[in-house]
Amino acid sequence: MQNDIGLIGLAVMGQNLVLNMANHGYNVAVFNRTTSVMDEFVGGLKSEPEDKVWKGTADRIKGYAELKDFVASLKRPRRVMIMVKAGKPVDMVIEELKPFLEPGDIIIDGGNSDFRDTNRRSKDLPAAGLLFIGTGVSGGEEGALKGPSIMPGGNKAAWPAVKDILQSISAKVGPKEDIPCCEWVGEDGAGHYVKMVHNGIEYGDMQLICEAYFILKHALGLTNEELYQVFKEWNESELASYLIEITRDIFTVKDKATGKYLVDEILDTAQQKGTGKWMSQHALDLGVPTTLITEAVYARCLSAQKDARVRASKVLSGPESKFSGDKKQFIDDVKWALYASKLVSYAQGYVQLNAAAEEFKWNLNNGDIALLWRGGCIIRSAFLGDIKTAFDKNPKLENLLLDEFFKKAIDKAQPAWRRVVAAAVTHGIPVPAFTAALSYYDGYRCDRLPANLLQAQRDYFGAHTYERIDKPRGEMFHTDWIHER
Ligand code: NAP
Repeated sequence: MQNDIGLIGLAVMGQNLVLNMANHGYNVAVFNRTTSVMDEFVGGLKSEPEDKVWKGTADRIKGYAELKDFVASLKRPRRVMIMVKAGKPVDMVIEELKPFLEPGDIIIDGGNSDFRDTNRRSKDLPAAGLLFIGTGVSGGEEGALKGPSIMPGGNKAAWPAVKDILQSISAKVGPKEDIPCCEWVGEDGAGHYVKMVHNGIEYGDMQLICEAYFILKHALGLTNEELYQVFKEWNESELASYLIEITRDIFTVKDKATGKYLVDEILDTAQQKGTGKWMSQHALDLGVPTTLITEAVYARCLSAQKDARVRASKVLSGPESKFSGDKKQFIDDVKWALYASKLVSYAQGYVQLNAAAEEFKWNLNNGDIALLWRGGCIIRSAFLGDIKTAFDKNPKLENLLLDEFFKKAIDKAQPAWRRVVAAAVTHGIPVPAFTAALSYYDGYRCDRLPANLLQAQRDYFGAHTYERIDKPRGEMFHTDWIHER
C-alpha cells in the first residue's frame, strides 16, 4: 500500500496535521530529522488512550528513518508537506528531498515562511521540474489537529493534486459546516502573504481587546467578574469571535497557587515571534498606512520595556484615570469603539493586500480570503462573514470603509468611538490602536490634508519640488522660497 502524502517535521504542528490527515482517511508517511522524535510519535500512537481524537488512525501513519524510503512510499505525483522551522531549514529539506523526487512531484511548505522565500522557491522548483506550494496554516496546534485555516499559494498547476486533502483537513464553516476554510489564494508567495496579513490582523485584534480591557479596568474600575459579563455580552453581539470568547473565559481562571485571578498575576510584558512586525515592515516598503497593526507591534515593544516603565512611573505624572460619567453607557461606547477600530484594522489589512497584489501581479479574491479566516484560525469571527459579503458585492472595493454596510456601522459607532478615545486621552489611559484607527479614519475621509505645507517645507530646504492644485498631476514646480519672502 502506498502513502497518499508525506510530512516532514514532527514538532507540534507537523504531528497534529498528520493526525488530522489520518483522521480523514489518508495514509501518511512521516519523517523527522531527529529520528527518535518520529519513533516516539509513531510508537506513542499505538498506546494512546481510546478516547483520543486520533483513535484508530495509527495504522495509517508510517514512520521512515531514511528520506529515500519515505519518498519511495508515496503515490505519484508525490506530495510532500514540510512543517519545519521557517527560513534556512526549509531550503535544506528541499535540497535533501530533490534527488529522490521526479518531475511533477509537489512540495508543500506549510510553515510560517517569509513570502519572499516562497516567491523564490515557486520560481526555482519548477525550473527543476517540481511544483511548489507555500501555504499559510493558521489556528495553532489545536487548529492543526481539528481543522486549521489553510491559505495555499505558489504553482497553480499543483493545486488540483492537493486540493482534496488540504480542503478535507481544513476547518469548515457555513450553516451545514461544509464550506472549507481552504481555497487557492494566488501565485508565488500569495498564500504566505495572506497568512502574514492574518497574523498582523491578529496582533491588531488582540491589542484592541487589551485596550478595551484597560479602559474598562482603569477608567471604570470593573472587576474580573464584571469584565467576564461584559465580554460574554460582547461575544453574543457583532463582536462575536474566538478572541472575545477566550478573553471572556480568561477572566474566570484562578491561580492555583494564590487563589487570585490568574490574569492579574501575569507580568505585563508581551512577547512576539515577529510575524506582526513583518507585515508592518512590508507596509512601509509598499508605502501603505497600516497604522493600527504597527501600533499594536509598538505596544508590545513598549510593554517589554518593563523596567524602564517602572522607573518612569515614579517620575512622570498624568491625570486621574477614574471616569465619573454613566458607567453602562460608557461600557457600550467601548464596545462600539472596539468594533469601529477593528473595522479600520481589517480595512487597512485589505488595502495592504491589494497593494501587494498589484506589486507582485497576484489576482487575489478578497471575499475568499475573508472566508479562509472565517473558521479554524485565531481571528475567526462573525464579522468576517460581513467582509465576505462586502467583497462578493464589489470584488474591486477600494476600502472596506466605503462598503454601504460598514459605512452605516461606522456612522452608528462614531460618536461612541470619539467619546472613548477622548475619555482615554483625558484620563491618561494609553490607547494607541484605538487612536491610530480613529486618526486613520479621519485622515482617509479628509480631501485636503496638511501635506501642502509639508511639500512646501521639502521644496524650501531641499528643492524637492511640488505639484499645484491648479495644474495637471505630475507637473512639478519649484520656488526659491528664501528670495520670494
Ligand atoms: P518548529 O519549532 O518551528 O520547528 C521544529 C521542527 O523543525 C522539528 O521537526 C525540527 O526537527 C525541524 N527542523 C528544524 N531545523 C531543521 C533542519 N535544518 N532540517 C530539518 N528539520 C529541521 O515547529 P512547529 O512549532 O511545529 O512549527 C512548524 C512550522 O509551522 C513553523 O514554520 C512555524 O512557524 C509554523 N507554525 C507554527 C504554529 C504554532 O502554533 N506552533 C502555528 C502556525 C504555523 P528536529 O526534531 O530534528 O529538531
